[in-house]
This record gives sequence, structure tokens and C-alpha cells, in this order.
Amino acid sequence: MIAMMDRVRLDDEEGRLAALTRYDVLDSVAEPQFDRITALICSALDVPMAAVSLIDRDRQWFKSSQGLNLTETERDIAFCDHAIRRPTALVVNDARQDPRFASNPLVTGAPHLLSYAGVPLQTPDGYNVGTICALDTRARNFSKPQMEMLANLAAVTVDALEVRMIANFDHLTGSFSRRAFLSQLDLEISRRSSRRYVAALVLFDLDHFKLINDRYGHGAGDSVLRAVGRLCRVTLRRKDVVGRIGGEEFGILLPDTDAEMAIDVAERMRAAIADMEIPGLPGVRVTASFGIAGLTPAVTSNSQWLAMADAPLYSAKQKGRNCCEHIHTRGILGPEGQRSRMNPLEWYEKSLRPA
Ligand code: GH3
Ligand code: MG
Ligand code: MG
Repeated sequence: MIAMMDRVRLDDEEGRLAALTRYDVLDSVAEPQFDRITALICSALDVPMAAVSLIDRDRQWFKSSQGLNLTETERDIAFCDHAIRRPTALVVNDARQDPRFASNPLVTGAPHLLSYAGVPLQTPDGYNVGTICALDTRARNFSKPQMEMLANLAAVTVDALEVRMIANFDHLTGSFSRRAFLSQLDLEISRRSSRRYVAALVLFDLDHFKLINDRYGHGAGDSVLRAVGRLCRVTLRRKDVVGRIGGEEFGILLPDTDAEMAIDVAERMRAAIADMEIPGLPGVRVTASFGIAGLTPAVTSNSQWLAMADAPLYSAKQKGRNCCEHIHTRGILGPEGQRSRMNPLEWYEKSLRPA
């Protein structure tokens, strides 16, 4: 505990928000590892309510909660916002007797909190990004073993956030990992609010990449991948999502983007890659082939959407590489090179690109 207190950084709100952003967890879907933690708090501390609360700039958002009918609250009424301003646990035994909380709407109204125990979620670099907390509608004390349990669960929660971040992030390219990118696609599919909403998926695969490795070595290949990741970050909008789907294949999710704009983005990326300087490899050029597919009403899963973009990517490779193909507007080539007369959706199902 002494070591933790040495490290805690309580006066750097921007650094704290950056640490929270690195976890990329706000507004994510429920995940069982966090729900298990809140369930454990309820049984171990014998409380009806518990939460993993993350403190954003203006709100607290619950990664998991039990017994609460809330997904978030304003920051200025959050007990947890008081807890993150301290190096150690905050305990409120009877909110009615505490001037900080007596008139708090969470006390005077639903969920009628009277007692609270919260332990900060402290990142390895010392930022309190949120808390785990136990909440009760009666005034009560929390025992020493219960508070120790809560402190241990806070450390477990931070570990879970760290592991989740490592699993979601591709360190070589700075983009999302395959796993995280696929869940971003699913999120986009489920968030689509109307049939008129447009979004596009662009897949691209570096051309003859094996040659780069063979000629210049694997380290040079890695530099190319790093440079492509960097190029995506400077070329695309903030809300666009980039993921490394496989070795030298990337995906770009373009929210709010129609076919014409998506072709434009892909074409811009294609030209930028062909033009790219690779650190340590002066004069060497790489190219990539692109496949584009919009989010049609028929798309219900990430694998379907990926396959729809994979078909025109295959076609772009067939056409000689270093080009962009769109599933609907440009037509796609069948495996034998004839232009398919089938509906593209049907076509991709029948002729997925060989592995
Ligand atoms: P195509 O134009 O048909 O895509 O040809 P290609 O050579 O790019 O495709 P192929 O699938 O034959 O080879 C892909 C190569 O990418 C082989 C693999 O060793 C390399 N690769 C995959 N992941 C990495 C990585 O992380 N680093 C490096 N340096 N190379 C990688
Ligand atoms: Mg390739
Ligand atoms: Mg490939």
C-alpha cells in the first residue's frame, strides 16, 4: 500500500483521462470478467449493489454493475469521483450524516444510497481511472477483511483492464488487433440506427510482401508494417477504426461513409502507400490491393461483412494489384476471371477467397 501511495498521481487530470483512453473501454459492451467482479463484491461484502465505475471527463460510466438501474451518471454526483481523488479507499457509513453526500440525488432519491465503500482503480503508472465500489441502502460499517477483499478486487480489475488492452492492441502497427477489430465491426452493425445509415469496410493486403521479407529480411518487413500503421493514423479521420486482420492484411472501418466516399478513402490510402518512404529502406516501394464493401441491411455479422470486402480484394489482386475494388459499383471477378453475373452477396458466399 505504501508503494502505491508513492506512485499515485492525483493532480494530473489530463494524464488521468489519457490513461483511461488507453484502455479504450468506455461504452464497450458487457464482458463477463467484470461482471464476475461485481458479483463477487455483492456476496463478499453482503451488499445489494456494486459497480466497476470509470470516471470520464464529465460522467461516471459503469463497466459492470449489480443492482443498479444505471449505466452512467453525471460526474458531479458520483461518490466514485470523491474516491478517485484519494490514494486509498473512501468509506461512507451513513450518507445522511456526511455533508458531502447528504443532499446527493442518489441519496435523497433512487437508488437511495446510504453507505458506500470504494477503492480506486489505480493504473500501473499511478492514475486513478475509476473505482470498484460496494453500495448499500442501509447505514453500515465495512469490516477490515471486507475492505481488504475490495482492495484485492480493485487490483484484479486493473489487471483485467490491462490484459484486455494488450489483447485488443497490435503493438507492431499501433492498430486494433484482429479480435478487437472484429468486435468493432459487430458494434457498428448493432449500432446501425436505420436502414439509411451508411458505413463501409475497407480491407487491404500488401502486395508481394513475402518478397520484402525475402529480399531485405523480416526486420525490414516489420518496418513496412509499422509505417503502414503510422500512415493510417495520419491519413484517416479520428472516428475511423484501423485493425490488423492478419500478417500483412488490414481493415479500416469507416462509420458514416457512403460507397463513393469509401472508394475515395481507399484510393487515397492506396496512393499514400505506393508513395510511402520506409525508414531504413530508401527507394523501396510497396503497394497494396483494396476491397470495399458497404454495410448493407443484409449484414448481420462481422464474418459476413469481412467476406463481402474480401471478395473485391481478391478481385483487385487478380486484376494486377495496387488497385481498389468495390463490391457493388465496380463488379467483381469470379474465380475464373469472368465477371460474375450473380448478385455480389450471393457470389461471395459461393466463392470465398481460398485461404
Ligand atoms: P500477395 O500480393 O498475393 O498478397 O502476396 P504476398 O507475398 O503479400 O502474400 P503471402 O500471403 O504469400 O505472404 C505474406 C507474407 O507476410 C508472408 C509472411 O511471412 C509475411 N508476414 C506476416 N506477418 C508478418 C510480420 O508480422 N512481419 C513480417 N516481417 N512479415 C510478416
Ligand atoms: Mg499480401
Ligand atoms: Mg495476406
